[in-house]
Amino acid sequence: MSRINVMQPYLGMEEIAAVAEVINSGWVAQGPKVAAFEEAFAAAQQASCAVATSSCTTALHLAMIVSGVGPGDEVVVPSFSFIATANAVVYVGARPVFADVDITTGNVTAATIEEVLTERTRAVIVVDQGGVPVDLDPIRTLCDPRGITVVEDAACGAGSTYHNRPVGSGAEISAWSFHPRKIITTGEGGMLTTSRHSWADRARRLREHAMNVSAADRHGNVLAPAESYLEVGYNFRMTDLQAAVGLVQLGRLEEVVHRRRELADTYAKYLGEIDGLRPVADPEWGTCNFQSFWVEVGPDYPLTRDELLAHLASQEISGRRGIMAAHRQPPYLDQPRIPLPVTEHLTDNTLILPLFHQLSEPEQTRVVDALAEPRPRG
Ligand SMILES: *Cc1c(COP(=O)(O)O)cnc(C)c1O
Repeated sequence: MSRINVMQPYLGMEEIAAVAEVINSGWVAQGPKVAAFEEAFAAAQQASCAVATSSCTTALHLAMIVSGVGPGDEVVVPSFSFIATANAVVYVGARPVFADVDITTGNVTAATIEEVLTERTRAVIVVDQGGVPVDLDPIRTLCDPRGITVVEDAACGAGSTYHNRPVGSGAEISAWSFHPRKIITTGEGGMLTTSRHSWADRARRLREHAMNVSAADRHGNVLAPAESYLEVGYNFRMTDLQAAVGLVQLGRLEEVVHRRRELADTYAKYLGEIDGLRPVADPEWGTCNFQSFWVEVGPDYPLTRDELLAHLASQEISGRRGIMAAHRQPPYLDQPRIPLPVTEHLTDNTLILPLFHQLSEPEQTRVVDALAEPRPRG
């Protein structure tokens, strides 16, 4: 029996050719391909400005800096997210304040955010968890009048929509990931998009040691102009090798999301016939890219979540425990917080099923059959 992975990147000959072209050009660091990728990504996501970075984590870090978050500030984040969401807040000396999530979507809501707002709240990081679009409008209605910046962690969100627009386009600033576990990949890589040109300009400088002139521009001249370093910056650059792959991947986004939605439909149809399993689904305000196809294992199902993962593994099917809860990890154990019952329930009772572009019909049938196999006890 061959192994079915939970996720597989979808890369082909076009990506190989694109990388070869960059290598032949003699310029492999951040340069013209990164600029072209930024332009194409901004157009695809309906963003005014896009700044490529080395990862979504570094894009979130820059988002915290340019939106003015610093020591003494509080930033509301879901605990129900990859740990980088909370870590980005700590990088700038601020304090993450955990909000609970909605049981249906796994995302924060205006109500769960409002519960933890204080006069020190400077920003909120909302997440399109697993590609499920967050209901952003009520959150902006809550935060905008209070001068609280809404940052969207759209790491998993490329290709999902909110009220018929790309997710991320409704926030003042958004961060994206191109890690292979996400919807399109550059190996490692990220992007920051924003509607504010001044924030984009500063992020663009900060990712490159805060130089007043980019390395690509300096080396375009035989006699490179003298540069200066306007503040303490970082090396958060993407390479042209990665951006060349990103351009090809971006061209595949629509096709990839279409296929993932087909596979998700098939799962939903068969899981609907199995008592005790609830699959993630489109919310009323948008569509999912199904970056993570998660399923809640309820009390009516004969196995617990962990037993079901072991049962799948025994048939060479690789599932994953659901989204983590950051508040249970060592750096955040002592962090004061409100109870997070929905977060803990989802973390403990969900698992992620294999779903990727190349997943075949017989493979998906194998997964569905394995899910249907356990018989009710007694
Ligand atoms: C994957 C992920 C990140 C981190 O992305 P990297 O590109 O690996 O740094 C951040 N936030 C969320 C919600 C993620 O899923």
